[in-house]
Amino acid sequence: MASTVTANALPAPETIVIDGHRTSCDGGGGALGHPKVWLEIDHDKGFVECGYCDRRFVERGGPADTGK
Ligand SMILES: [Zn+2]
Repeated sequence: MASTVTANALPAPETIVIDGHRTSCDGGGGALGHPKVWLEIDHDKGFVECGYCDRRFVERGGPADTGK
């Protein structure tokens, strides 16, 4: 199946849906890891991006949750 690239889609390395609005990220550990940081989802946006590894954390059922 051919992959389709949407022109205006920002490259999000990984999207992780979580329950609740608070989580932590350490980049997954190993060579790609980074110091553990706590992240709090912006309630209006429904997601937060990790400043280190650009992972996006989406609150389940929130405005940014597309996997209903
Ligand atoms: Zn991270």
